[in-house]
Amino acid sequence: EMVRIQAVTDELTGLFNLRHFHDTLDGEIERSRRFGTDVGLMLLDIDDFKRVNDTYGHQQGDLVLIEVGRVLRTLSRDIDEPARYGGEEMAVVLPQTDVAGAELLAERMRAAVAGIDIDRLDGGGRLQVTASFGVASLPSNARDKDSLIAEADAALYRAKRAGKNQVGRAEPVIAES
Ligand code: GH3
Ligand code: MG
Ligand code: MG
Repeated sequence: EMVRIQAVTDELTGLFNLRHFHDTLDGEIERSRRFGTDVGLMLLDIDDFKRVNDTYGHQQGDLVLIEVGRVLRTLSRDIDEPARYGGEEMAVVLPQTDVAGAELLAERMRAAVAGIDIDRLDGGGRLQVTASFGVASLPSNARDKDSLIAEADAALYRAKRAGKNQVGRAEPVIAES
């Protein structure tokens, strides 16, 4: 059982790992096609994370990742699947959630991340971080997994460009006539 858990878990944050993220997203998209339900996707990227590492060290950066991961797990519903997507990028697969629902949850997570006080390893008090988010859902924003990820990523990029510490939302797919 422990080996089974390790196989799907990111060691540092305790979130699901990238492989499990892809497996669950595949499964939810399959289910969405069969039963006509929505599947939401939230991506987040910590703002100016390189500066945290440069200023306080890599070990401190790791503690920030752990704390942000904890927020995602705490605010996720039982059916949600919060995962570490890459270095300082995380993703949550949101079954039966449309883009408006994903946006609401992302906004709560954004506020919670901005509210974390992280102990500084150098004993110099606390530090804060923010994160930018992108949300999209199937079928309203995308037709398949790749375009769902691309739409959430584009929305996240817009949030960064617009000043960070905010949630970007994907645009509806224009129906072809
Ligand atoms: P932006 O606001 O545009 O996202 O800027 P940023 O500094 O967060 O983005 P950038 O991609 O330049 O930096 C990401 C940094 O994340 C660089 C990399 O060293 C760091 N990083 C990636 N994985 C880890 C990790 O596991 N631990 C630590 N401490 N740092 C990591
Ligand atoms: Mg990044
Ligand atoms: Mg970043």
